[in-house]
Amino acid sequence: MASPDWGYDGENGPEHWCKLHPIANGNNQSPIDIKTSETKRDPSLKPLSISYNPATAKEIVNVGHSFHVNFEDSDNRSVLKGGPLPESYRLRQFHFHWGSTDDCGSEHLVDGAPFSAELHLVHWNSTKYPSFADAASQADGLVIVGVLMKNKKAPFTNFDPSVLLPSCPDYWAYFGSLTHPPLHESVTWIIFKETISVSAEQLAQFRSLLANAEGDQEVCIKQNYRPPQPLKGRTVKASF
Ligand SMILES: [Zn+2]
Repeated sequence: MASPDWGYDGENGPEHWCKLHPIANGNNQSPIDIKTSETKRDPSLKPLSISYNPATAKEIVNVGHSFHVNFEDSDNRSVLKGGPLPESYRLRQFHFHWGSTDDCGSEHLVDGAPFSAELHLVHWNSTKYPSFADAASQADGLVIVGVLMKNKKAPFTNFDPSVLLPSCPDYWAYFGSLTHPPLHESVTWIIFKETISVSAEQLAQFRSLLANAEGDQEVCIKQNYRPPQPLKGRTVKASF
């Protein structure tokens, strides 16, 4: 269950990941603080084309540090196209990041401000690569769509992930990495400008998820976000 060599606090927390994974100090790490005055509008950024088929939702799996909602990705029924992407990317899974209190938990910040949680929809380049594993370590292999979540009263009843997307199409895009080991710098990040809502009850449920294996002492996943990493000269593009 919980990976023994990394976690989110104490001796194997984010500041120690670089010992086993030197790329943690690389030039294209995620997440970042999006400083809106330094983003650059790019008129060539087209609207995203997102087409998810709810029938591809497969299973929900506790992976120790989070839970993944996995999708059938052997065909093109749930794909992301358009935006900054020259190719089509298949939905693999979505998951959330959250904090120990409602005032933190997102991985990306906007102008220094954190949000209560962040949804990540993970897609892989099925045009160029035969499998998720092949794509995950290639520069053009993955696209993660991030949606920042504000703590407000909101229903949460459906696993069709397109219901979790904001209505405004505006987004930021930059090149970065996975936000936990192996931290591969293989991710085109697309972060929606508009937030979605998450209730205090839902956040409390995230925190009550168990990280331990069945039968072991009960340990909750109180928080699972990586702090922002240095931009190191990268440009964050804006579609708006
Ligand atoms: Zn994530």
